[in-house]
Amino acid sequence: MLNFTKFERINPEKRDVLQRLKDYNEVYQVFEKQRAKEQADRCMQCGDPYCHTGCPLGNFIPAWLKQTAEDNPDLAFALSNETSPFPEILGRICPQDVLCEGACSLNTGHGAVSIGAIETSLNERAFEKGMKPKFTEIKSDKKVAVIGSGPSGISAATFLLRRGIAVEMFEREDRAGGLLMYGIPGFKLDKTTVDRRINWLLEAGMKLHLNCEIGKDKSVEELESEFDAVFVGIGAKAGNWAKISGEDSSNVHLAMEFLTGLQKRNMNNKADYIDVKDKNVVVIGGGDTAMDCVRSSVREGAKSVKCLYRRDEANMPGSKKEVVNAKEEGVEYLFNVSPKSIISKDGIATGVELLETTMSEPDESGRQKVIINEGSEFVEEADVVIMALGFAPEVPAFLAQANIKTNSWGGIEINDKFQTSNTKFYAGGDCRRGAHLAVTAAVDGREAAKEIIKALM
Ligand SMILES: Cc1cc2nc3c(=O)[nH]c(=O)nc-3n(C[C@H](O)[C@H](O)[C@H](O)COP(=O)(O)OP(=O)(O)OC[C@H]3O[C@@H](n4cnc5c(N)ncnc54)[C@H](O)[C@@H]3O)c2cc1C
Ligand code: SF4
Repeated sequence: MLNFTKFERINPEKRDVLQRLKDYNEVYQVFEKQRAKEQADRCMQCGDPYCHTGCPLGNFIPAWLKQTAEDNPDLAFALSNETSPFPEILGRICPQDVLCEGACSLNTGHGAVSIGAIETSLNERAFEKGMKPKFTEIKSDKKVAVIGSGPSGISAATFLLRRGIAVEMFEREDRAGGLLMYGIPGFKLDKTTVDRRINWLLEAGMKLHLNCEIGKDKSVEELESEFDAVFVGIGAKAGNWAKISGEDSSNVHLAMEFLTGLQKRNMNNKADYIDVKDKNVVVIGGGDTAMDCVRSSVREGAKSVKCLYRRDEANMPGSKKEVVNAKEEGVEYLFNVSPKSIISKDGIATGVELLETTMSEPDESGRQKVIINEGSEFVEEADVVIMALGFAPEVPAFLAQANIKTNSWGGIEINDKFQTSNTKFYAGGDCRRGAHLAVTAAVDGREAAKEIIKALM
């Protein structure tokens, strides 16, 4: 350990740009065993490890880095899976620069330990050797329903099954995984990694009901009578519009409509998707979802792809590495522009009218406001406009039927035990936080499962 002067920080290699534009396969390669070992060997084994605090799951990072560096892959695998329901997935998609790696003591000078890449590698190498996450053989007589198969639902199911509690998962889509399956594109997360985790839950005894929407195909009353507790992990997928004139044009779409259509086509060969080949695509928004839209558009063969964002590059909310990847792939950025209207003819958008903006001086909290420069209008031509302006919870009717209270923006209210106002129902993930991260959804699922276990056993 402590070999951070011997080995410099290395990021996983990326596939060549021209190759990666031809498909939706993952951009980053998984570290070879020796590379993961060397990179783990850089860890200083801090007495009070900040990386552990920076990780929302509180993963035992220095412990599994040490076991990786000292060539104890079985122990590294066990430690990594102890606190995380799907470490190989989070190693791929967490914004590590603001989480574990951002908090690493080496981040200030020598370069943080490449924690995410090592986490993915140690797990993938273990799977290659036939290792699997462990579930208990002892089964209790308790039964929990999990609504939604996204990261919060998968996490809740994992930790419940580990304690021998029977789980039935209900998912309205035709495949499990939530946004891991039909949101995050394959170039960031290979879908087989999601299927693999779901299959292990099925092997551990979980029953999965696909194409089953709670409130429509199965009622709240049925859940209440059949199960000892219910975990609600229904996400927050309702896209926000810019609320400007012309956005009802037929070629203006919400980000999820675009991304989900492409991913369903990629997996099921269904033809129902938004075709942007040879078109000028304009994506409005500057977060991770916008990056996924622009990067999907270049893979679809769009004529030009532009990302419009109302702040400057330094204030972009998404992961910095994804912005770099998008630039490499040919995406153009227009910073400091705010959409005023969609220019359309006969119900079809031909461009976006924009206003230039300036950033104010930072206030006491350091936040800079967006100032619209009146009279600075100009038009950016577009054949397809995609709105990637964040998400809100959907607030389905079954919540009220179950007496589950929501707050002013539609988020499910919970107490410190993850219980909703109906104490048989627990909730977590985006449906209670608002659109957030896979890792925080995983935390909620794990913590809610612990509370359910305490209440039932
Ligand atoms: C395009 C995109 C890219 C992202 N990229 C990243 C990233 O790189 N890194 C990261 O950490 N996070 C990323 N996120 C955020 C992350 O995906 C979410 O925070 C996370 O998936 C939330 O998990 P969840 O379980 O709360 O909800 P979801 O993943 O949304 O899952 C909810 C599930 O519930 C199902 N459901 C809803 N209502 C019902 C019902 N009535 N009955 C049955 N099933 C129902 C839905 O179909 C869905 O499958 C991204 C999000 C998007 C949209
Ligand atoms: S789960 Fe995310 S934050 Fe935690 S160690 Fe893994 S990559 Fe880092």
